[in-house]
Amino acid sequence: MLIGASLLLTGCAGLFGSFGPARQAWRGAAEKQCLASGRVKVSAYVQPMSEMDGPGNCGADNPFRVSGALDGQVGIRPTANINCPMTAALDDWLYNVVEPAAMQTHGQPVVEVKLLSSYSCRRINGAASGSMSEHAYMNALDVGGFKFADGKDISVKNGWRSQDLATVTFLQEVGDRSCLIFNTVIGPDGDIHHQDHFHIDLANRRSGKYCKGGPVRGGTGLMSYMGGDKSFFRNSPFFGALADKPLPGHDPNHDD
Ligand SMILES: [Zn+2]
Repeated sequence: MLIGASLLLTGCAGLFGSFGPARQAWRGAAEKQCLASGRVKVSAYVQPMSEMDGPGNCGADNPFRVSGALDGQVGIRPTANINCPMTAALDDWLYNVVEPAAMQTHGQPVVEVKLLSSYSCRRINGAASGSMSEHAYMNALDVGGFKFADGKDISVKNGWRSQDLATVTFLQEVGDRSCLIFNTVIGPDGDIHHQDHFHIDLANRRSGKYCKGGPVRGGTGLMSYMGGDKSFFRNSPFFGALADKPLPGHDPNHDD
């Protein structure tokens, strides 16, 4: 967080100080719809922030400071600065994707998510030119690792090609299934910029989802997994709706 904040202060003010169009209308609309839905509840772990406005058009209208998900059962470290849709999706993701994978592979829940980045006023992959990153609009997270109830730590960087079957399986399942919740998922098999984290965001993708979170298992891994083992989703109120979503699409104009 400190590194991000100092980069923001020293980097973005200069880079984006004169970059001043308004944020796209869909962003504010998505926030409004999320707030009205009641999906995000203010608590000790989810605190509303005032509008993050700039530099440039970076920020969000009604962001949240999120230090815990699932009513505080899962710590978010460091605290994430994200918009309402990402706050809601974080709960959905943990409940429907991460915890089922944790129980399946480790027989215990994840109690902490380790972030590498949340809000960051920058362009995709930190490039000098090109599209702004979803991180710039508090609409993305970079997940670097997970901590389990017994204290086991898994990092994406060391775990992705680990010899530990439970670790590898857990990360692959999370990579595969995160596309149920998010519109963009990029993991270590995605590209060189994602060797140590999963990038997850809620970009507005008219052309379909972009997901390169994990290994593609013959193109049907996700759905066959779900079809073959629905028991993990038995208690999930989201399962029916999620199962109807199409398989991940491919869009060369990916965001990070
Ligand atoms: Zn990212």
